[in-house]
Amino acid sequence: MKPQSIGTIAVNKVVETIMPFDPVAGFPDCDPAAFTANMDWLAPHFFDPASFMMLFSMHSFVVRTAHHTILIDTCIGNHKDRPMIPFWNQRNGPFLDFMRDGGVAPESIDYVMCTHLHADHIGWNTRLENGRWVPTFPNARYIFSRADYEAAAQLKPGERGYQPYADSVLPVVESRQAQIVGNDFSLDDEVTILPTPGHTPGHYCVNLASQGQRGVMTGDLIHHPMQILHPEWLTSFCVDPQASRAQRIKFVDDHTDSGATIFAAHFGGPTAGKIVSGRTGRRFVLNDPDHHHG
Ligand SMILES: [Zn+2]
Repeated sequence: MKPQSIGTIAVNKVVETIMPFDPVAGFPDCDPAAFTANMDWLAPHFFDPASFMMLFSMHSFVVRTAHHTILIDTCIGNHKDRPMIPFWNQRNGPFLDFMRDGGVAPESIDYVMCTHLHADHIGWNTRLENGRWVPTFPNARYIFSRADYEAAAQLKPGERGYQPYADSVLPVVESRQAQIVGNDFSLDDEVTILPTPGHTPGHYCVNLASQGQRGVMTGDLIHHPMQILHPEWLTSFCVDPQASRAQRIKFVDDHTDSGATIFAAHFGGPTAGKIVSGRTGRRFVLNDPDHHHG
């Protein structure tokens, strides 16, 4: 993704890795032929035609306003014990080096905003230091939604989701860097949240507004660009798939031809784009299309 600007707000992407995912496993009621019909714009960044697999980018967004440097979602992380998902298990990747290469030191982050508390959005909240999990961003306040935090805090050891909570959320709470927020939270006039429960009970999007321009970090409300065309597809990743679908349909309706730039958590390559109506239905139009792929 080329650096983006929303008025005076700058947005950059830091990629951790790209993960292939089977379309039917992700969207059980999708028509696989829909991917084939859209391959002219899905390949190569969003779909690999050779393996017929979706491509999910794991990345964070760095948002710089005049006042704050904000990290939106923190990917999978290193050394995390994730035996259920081998691709996420005990990783050892250079994500922090990629951040520093982009001019962002961990110490410079003022806020970390996790759209929700799934393992691929909280991993770099912490890092392993002398056998203990410590916050990766020592000067940041971490913004967690109350509904997600309370759901995670009820989990018992051994239950699904407990391990990510224990190694990537609890250490932040114990270091007094967590800020548990309700649906009415806003950071300031430019950075506000849009509660979108369904994928998780407290899932939120992050709205950016500056000088009449708008952007939205959509987290896992939308997993793949094909859901812009088909927001009705249910996903296998959601705590409440029906609620998530209703939120997604409303979101896509509200943002069609709105001019807002969509920054989705798992769209690869050029990533940033707008939802535009067309004669044959909605389209996802990239802000900076890559004309060089063949
Ligand atoms: Zn995710």
